Amino acid sequence: MGTVYHIVQFEDGSAYMMFDICNWECAYCVRNVGLWCSSLSADTVKRLNSMGVNHLSIDRPLEILKKNGVRQVFLGGGEPTQDPELKELMHRLKLNDINAWLITNGELLDDETFELSSGITFSIKAIDENLHQRLTGKPNEKVLKNFEKYGKDEKVIAETVFYPKLVGCEEIQRIARFCSFCKSKFQVQGGPCSAVEG
Ligand code: SF4
Repeated sequence: MGTVYHIVQFEDGSAYMMFDICNWECAYCVRNVGLWCSSLSADTVKRLNSMGVNHLSIDRPLEILKKNGVRQVFLGGGEPTQDPELKELMHRLKLNDINAWLITNGELLDDETFELSSGITFSIKAIDENLHQRLTGKPNEKVLKNFEKYGKDEKVIAETVFYPKLVGCEEIQRIARFCSFCKSKFQVQGGPCSAVEG
């Protein structure tokens, strides 16, 4: 069974599909705050909370996207690559001409998932190994190797999160240098470093 549980559509017609799975423990994870799209109204969130989280069967996400005319969907969460049905779902999206943009921590990114993605937001939490462990509870060796492998492709955008308690400007500059070495695009979310782009 897959873990897709929530799909929202934006005004431009694209959609965001959320996966209810991740075994990392990032201190700033939005899942610590709530499981629903943050742009929904308080009333809608209240109604969703009363219904609880239900995982959709493999056919349902595609049915919902087609019914609503979606041509571009962002896959996030949660960590989509940990979902056992992700690849099957992405194949079905591709067969139906729906572009799938993957938002991932990169640890489990592989050739098949890379090929099936129309674009990838690749989140690099930290370069420093100890910092990464403290922030996420996981090592980053595989993440950095995968970024060196896939990050050069123009469909990949690296991102990180400014988190002053652990990932401040010094670490963000280190991530930016790593991305620059890999000749990749880079963006920062949140805080005073958010203007950094390359
Ligand atoms: S990898 Fe993403 S989904 Fe997983 S804990 Fe970190 S921020 Fe949350």
